Amino acid sequence: MKNTTAPIGRFAPTPSGRMHLGNVFAALIAWLSVRSRGGSLVLRMEDLDTQRTSGENAALLRQDLLWLGLDWDAETPPQSQRSQVYDRYFEQLMDQGLLYPCYCTRSQLHSVNAPHLSDGTYVYPGTCRELTSQQRKAFDRPPAWRVKVPNRLWTVEDLGQGTYRQNLSTDCGDFVVRRADGVYVYQLAVTVDDGEAGVTEVVRGADLLSSAPRQMYLQELFGFRQPTYGHVPMLLAADGRRLSKRDRDLDLGFLRQHTTPETIIGILAHAAGLTHSAQPISAKELASQFSWELLSRDAIYLDTQAFF
Ligand code: GLU
Repeated sequence: MKNTTAPIGRFAPTPSGRMHLGNVFAALIAWLSVRSRGGSLVLRMEDLDTQRTSGENAALLRQDLLWLGLDWDAETPPQSQRSQVYDRYFEQLMDQGLLYPCYCTRSQLHSVNAPHLSDGTYVYPGTCRELTSQQRKAFDRPPAWRVKVPNRLWTVEDLGQGTYRQNLSTDCGDFVVRRADGVYVYQLAVTVDDGEAGVTEVVRGADLLSSAPRQMYLQELFGFRQPTYGHVPMLLAADGRRLSKRDRDLDLGFLRQHTTPETIIGILAHAAGLTHSAQPISAKELASQFSWELLSRDAIYLDTQAFF
């Protein structure tokens, strides 16, 4: 029988290309965190950006995860198929009087002096919050929609990064939930998807830590239970460069031809502080010794030559 208190984790990749080491690391920790405690994992393709994502990439992603030994218990529908579901939550915010149309242009928002969050989000000064209906009409084009945020401090007790605080009002400002072209943004979609799937634990890259307060705020408004967060450190090349999709030579298309899943996992686990040596190890073996306490908080430097 399934333990009802067992965690439900998720892995939510964007199928915009082959998996790279950063995705592998986030998926590995998400998997270890739930599997080490008898929990389950939900897979979801984040393909809101239909220009950059594809079904072929999603298929390769699934194969790559299985090759790594990272399995999942259920896959929920991709975000591109859920805009009607998101409509309902959007209407809910509208009915609560929490949304307003924003006509600011990209260049207004990106003005050089605008302070921004670590993920590049500009602190929105509330320019369109008090527009009159006449002023709104004068723009004569479809607006983006922003949700009003209260002046309140959000605290994330993060399993990976420790305590993180953000006041949405001063550190982020009212944020967009639906773009002018009608596409829902990541913050709304991810909150709805995790909430509806009953996710109790969100594990992903540290670059998304600054998004957590926005998602906690939406969870509260939608009445979802707040999950535990665990943001895993970024992977850097020996010269301090962030490993990213640009490093084609380190994507799984290449790595699968030149090395084994155990080699990759052994190196990542050791670099992250989980094991005493970089000996090859399977995800399954690693699960019995996984603990968040061991995981490095700081960015992890990788000697990428070690994989070959
Ligand atoms: N889709 C995002 C990515 O691939 C992850 C979002 C999340 O885990 O919340 O970077």
